[in-house]
Amino acid sequence: MKPITENQKTKIAFFSTQSYDKIFFEKYNSDFNFALTFLEAQLNSKTVALLQGETVICVFVNDIVDAAVIELLAKKNIKIIALRCAGFNNVDLDAAKKFGIHVCRVPSYSPEAVAEHAMAMILTLNRKTHKAYNRVREQNFSLNGLLGFDLHGKTIGVIGTGNIGKAFAKIVKGFGCNILAYDINIDPEMQKEGVVFTDLSAIFKQAEIISLHCPLNEQTKHLIDKEALSMMKNNVMIINTSRGALINTSDIIDTLKDGKVGYLGIDVYEQEEKLFFRDLSDNIIQDDEIQRLMSFPNVLVTAHQAFFTNEALTQIALTTLGNIESLLSKNDIDNKLALLA
Ligand code: NAD
Repeated sequence: MKPITENQKTKIAFFSTQSYDKIFFEKYNSDFNFALTFLEAQLNSKTVALLQGETVICVFVNDIVDAAVIELLAKKNIKIIALRCAGFNNVDLDAAKKFGIHVCRVPSYSPEAVAEHAMAMILTLNRKTHKAYNRVREQNFSLNGLLGFDLHGKTIGVIGTGNIGKAFAKIVKGFGCNILAYDINIDPEMQKEGVVFTDLSAIFKQAEIISLHCPLNEQTKHLIDKEALSMMKNNVMIINTSRGALINTSDIIDTLKDGKVGYLGIDVYEQEEKLFFRDLSDNIIQDDEIQRLMSFPNVLVTAHQAFFTNEALTQIALTTLGNIESLLSKNDIDNKLALLA
């Protein structure tokens, strides 16, 4: 990569910065030589005021990049909004286009990172290793309550067979599961590997485990609601590593209470932007739904960590900085999936 000369250094402001963002972006910026400012604040209409002459901002999954914020960013002369993630449901792309601001993302960094976390959630919920870990530390070597089931031979429903869904299907195939899949685009390569593409209701009715890997948009919001849950097998396991609002939270709480859903693993949560990526251990949590979810013995919540591997963070930093350089030098990005506006 050709470094941009010192006197032309492009200034990039990072919102929602965590210590690991700083470590990885500073490390890989040595190839790019941008001027990086790391802000802990989440981007919203108030925090736009923190910008100090930057022309590029770098944001993450819970930053608010709606039309009102974009209008304020345009007034601050922001030219590029670089998402350091794959999902872009938090960005109003029409508003960005209206104000002539480029939006780019990291379409694929480590699909395996997310797929492997989905499998980790399945194994934990099934074999209850989180409970066993605590139990043996108390010198309780009893097995009562730890009964699991073989994954081999079970039917797994994969909703969304893009990069992550595909990686997840490969993993579960290795466990000897039957795979049903639903996507708006059927993947012939996956069909050759034995994945059966079908409709959503067939997945809801037949799968013992359902894992969500589609993006959040108008079609997929509350994909898992009261009606979908009513079609599912008793004791079904639902895994969501995609976006929280794919599941209607109050509907799933009702279904967990009546015992129909056997297991729920969520790495994402509908109202996560007020909670995740923060240490709130000394706070009173006002969100009653997350508190209710965490009170079920058969619910596993992780705080949006599926992407969190060394390989993924490396790729995120390199691709994000590469996207910005490409937009600055030729107003375009070779990987068309990376350029959203
Ligand atoms: P991708 O674009 O490669 O795949 C998405 C797939 O969903 C595509 O095959 C697409 O055709 C399909 N799809 C679109 N609309 C659909 C619909 N209405 N019904 C069914 N399928 C539909 O994306 P990906 O890299 O596989 O990522 C999937 C999602 O995972 C992202 O949108 C993001 O929300 C989430 N994600 C979460 C984490 C995490 O840390 N938890 C990390 C990365 C991505």
